[in-house]
Amino acid sequence: MKCPQCSDILITLEFDRIEIDYCPRCEGVWLDSGELALLLAREGGSALVGTFRPVSGKERKRTCPICSRAMKKILAGGNGSILLDECPDHGLWFDRGELKKTLAAGCSGIREEGREDSLTRLLDEIFVPCGEESR
Ligand SMILES: [Zn+2]
Ligand SMILES: [Zn+2]
Repeated sequence: MKCPQCSDILITLEFDRIEIDYCPRCEGVWLDSGELALLLAREGGSALVGTFRPVSGKERKRTCPICSRAMKKILAGGNGSILLDECPDHGLWFDRGELKKTLAAGCSGIREEGREDSLTRLLDEIFVPCGEESR
């Protein structure tokens, strides 16, 4: 599968039986339909899914890595601050850092204080900004 952003080949990461397709070049993430809901359910959140709404943005449209059709722009997060690309049939594309923001928005308010947050930790490991690996 090719990255809709930079056309590099996506690598598949498995997180608790959920497959995450990750682009090592631009650090974007593809989730198949339903996988975001699975991730949120696993992390104890689900509020986010209902807050998605379509937008007609001016940002360049990307194409779905599965069917190559133009994806829709949708807004996510409590205040619609995260702009995502969605193929209604296949899934969602997250630019670098957007998956983490989306999960944080979806889980905020429900997460218990001090709860182990394994997914955010995994994402921290994946999305280490350049030059910070050795800290
Ligand atoms: Zn890429
Ligand atoms: Zn598609």
